[in-house]
Amino acid sequence: MAKATNTSTATTAKATKRTRTAAETEKIRVALVERRDELQSEYDESLTEITELQRDRLADSAGDDQADAGTKTFEREQEITLANNLLERINQVERALERLGEGNYGWCERCGNPIPVERLAAFPSATLCVTCKQLEERR
Ligand SMILES: [Zn+2]
Repeated sequence: MAKATNTSTATTAKATKRTRTAAETEKIRVALVERRDELQSEYDESLTEITELQRDRLADSAGDDQADAGTKTFEREQEITLANNLLERINQVERALERLGEGNYGWCERCGNPIPVERLAAFPSATLCVTCKQLEERR
């Protein structure tokens, strides 16, 4: 019967203030943008590589023996896998930037503490702080 009265105090404790200074947010944003540009140029290089491998394959496949052709196909497939990986990471950074804009990015999912800028720059998809990540891995 007395259940319904106790709602106002319960929620306040968990809502620890999630604030970063504008300078910190800016630092994260710059790190993410740099990361994205890096990945983007790696991706562009990778696409060039794929095109070249493709051209090679078409150009001199007549003279190749089976093993050579196989190696080239393998190389090309590896390069495509790499390119897809890079694209996925670019998307992660894009999403991170969006979430940063909404103020929802860079907080540890477990303890709610801010994740250090350096960590976010290195792993834009990081959702746990280093301490929580280590606890997770120890399991
Ligand atoms: Zn944490």
